[in-house]
Amino acid sequence: MQPAAYLDKLNPQQRRAVEHGVSGPGDIAGGPLLVIAGAGSGKTSTLAHRVAHLIVNGADPRRILLLTFSRRAAAEMTRRVERIARQVLGTDAQALIEGLNWAGTFHGIGARLLRDHAAQIGLDPSFTIHDREDSADLVNLIRHELGFSKTEKRFPAKGTLIAIYSRAVNAEQPLEEVIGRAFPWCAGWNAELKALFSAYVEAKQRQNVLDYDDLLLYWAQMMTEPALAAAVSGRFDHVLIDEYQDTNKLQASILTGLKPDGRGLTVVGDDAQSIYSFRAATVRNILDFPGHFSPRADTIMLEQNYRSTQPILAAANAVIDFASERYAKNLWSDRASGERPLLVNVRDEIEQANFVATRVLENREEGIALKSQAVLFRAAHHSGPLEVELTRRNIPFVKFGGLKFLDSAHVKDVLAVLRFSENPRDRVAGFRVLRLLSGLGPATAGRILDQVNEAGALLPALEAVTPPPRTAEEWPPFLAMLAELNTKSAGWPGEMDVVRQWYEPHLDRLHEDAASRQADLVQLAQIAGGYASRERFLTELTLDPPDATSAEAGPPHLDEDYLILSTIHSAKGQEWKSVFVLNAVDGCIPIDLGVGTREEIEEERRLLYVAMTRAKDSLHLVLPQRFFTHGQAARGDRHVYAARTRFIPPTILNRFAATSWPPAQPVAPGVQAAETARIDIGARMRAMWK
Ligand code: ATP
Ligand code: MG
Repeated sequence: MQPAAYLDKLNPQQRRAVEHGVSGPGDIAGGPLLVIAGAGSGKTSTLAHRVAHLIVNGADPRRILLLTFSRRAAAEMTRRVERIARQVLGTDAQALIEGLNWAGTFHGIGARLLRDHAAQIGLDPSFTIHDREDSADLVNLIRHELGFSKTEKRFPAKGTLIAIYSRAVNAEQPLEEVIGRAFPWCAGWNAELKALFSAYVEAKQRQNVLDYDDLLLYWAQMMTEPALAAAVSGRFDHVLIDEYQDTNKLQASILTGLKPDGRGLTVVGDDAQSIYSFRAATVRNILDFPGHFSPRADTIMLEQNYRSTQPILAAANAVIDFASERYAKNLWSDRASGERPLLVNVRDEIEQANFVATRVLENREEGIALKSQAVLFRAAHHSGPLEVELTRRNIPFVKFGGLKFLDSAHVKDVLAVLRFSENPRDRVAGFRVLRLLSGLGPATAGRILDQVNEAGALLPALEAVTPPPRTAEEWPPFLAMLAELNTKSAGWPGEMDVVRQWYEPHLDRLHEDAASRQADLVQLAQIAGGYASRERFLTELTLDPPDATSAEAGPPHLDEDYLILSTIHSAKGQEWKSVFVLNAVDGCIPIDLGVGTREEIEEERRLLYVAMTRAKDSLHLVLPQRFFTHGQAARGDRHVYAARTRFIPPTILNRFAATSWPPAQPVAPGVQAAETARIDIGARMRAMWK
């Protein structure tokens, strides 16, 4: 075996974290470990080294649980672990790392564990998973059933309802408290909300569907049953988590369930980057970790930033220095050279788009690939004008965050068919599918679904239905398609084609732009090919959908060069040579003009910090003097005049450089000449009549 050369590249603190509890081959112990450190200090990289080091020293990869913020991050981490382990294990590394298949998000891992243990917890393992929109649709269905929408005109909308429910579940807070704190305008509805949520919970169980929150909630509950908890935690020797600052109480309780004494537990995070409190994430998890596992817990701080140049880091540190509550960190970089971040004043968002597109192309001329550049923004719709400009100039891009590929109606339709066939009790899916047929209204659809439910099986129930006259012609092909799915004769991903063929005439009828939607479905079929089974495809896709790409150009191939557009939230953990932050103005960052609570404003500050610390070599913050806001419906969209974000007050302006774009144009000589040789037209006119 080669000596572990990868250890030599680590700094002493990183090395301590990597070697924590590992005394030599086969000799692995180790109490709870917390690595808390600023952006770009190598937390994620240290975690990857630690996993590799554990494996190199004999830990069984199949017994390592690795929790990351996204599926993409998990895949990237696994690749890195393999690269590192290869230095010692050579080609043996590959086979070993294939065993590292418990790497993913809390939700994804939760879904797998729940299916594995379904029988023990009274779940039917063919449960389907509702995304946020499906959950909101189900709540809405129940709201109608209970009559709240009719009698109570100002009853909260479905989006608000599901947000309240989810908050209560994730923060483990009573409903009254959640409403009082975050949704005060709903305070009059306590009783109705309780009735609604209790009906919602019952409906989910009856229909054998789980929403995102259930995946965590059920997992956490499993961990409170001693026998089950032992079975689940007995699967894993090591549990490692990245981005721990963005976990919520439920997730923390899962961890303590998995590793009650903290042995084998490693968590990594940065309190200054906590940006998910709207999903009930709490920075307390990371701050309380040492106390919870005291006196066994070890805390390691990393202080050298390897990502950014010193001027970028200095500016980012200045922004976060004003934060009210955080672990004091002394982050430094030895990459001393480089420009200060540039504040670019532009007239409006059109000019902003122009500027960014121009600069991105200039960068590419200078040898910085599009892929090494990213444009970040606070809200997904902020990139609208830029997307138009990029498309116009044929600059390929991929957009992370915001509207997902799967949110489009036609893609959801196809997925709903698969879900309905998988779990006929899933009412939201059932409604969606039946309503695709001509002449089949909601009342009839509801009745048919009731029959399916009573029969307990899809096909016999549907065969007994007499469809409405206008649906009659479409009914037999519909049943034939479901029958084919039911026998699973087409196999996976062949089933995808079965659905697509059936759906095609409906697509033509329902959508004018059927051709481009057709192309999306071809892409969906390609994605499907990457999964082993229908169930795995539906689960993973619902939990972590692929991102939207530039529509015109279609999705760029992986080896192609493309620019990254991303919400700041989705940019977490990543880095690029050149970063542009759009709309660095009040009203965008922070997103609300003055109405946020103090905590909300602080979270916006951390968001700006996250955005700035993604940059390695060059950072531009663009400030349109006015921006377009999607105002309340009553007022409509309107322009707002903007000021530089409050997080860059005059006292720290010296950390930045500033410019305007386009650069002031010198006045053309011709114009000037005309101005000096002024004629007096009045005198001429008067002269005419003399
Ligand atoms: P974030 O807080 O943004 O998630 P992080 O702390 O996870 O950042 P990483 O992404 O792991 O930081 O590392 C930032 C960069 O620094 C990466 O490019 C990584 O390869 C590099 N890096 C980390 N440690 C070292 C080291 N000891 N020597 C050289 N480069 C390093
Ligand atoms: Mg990281």
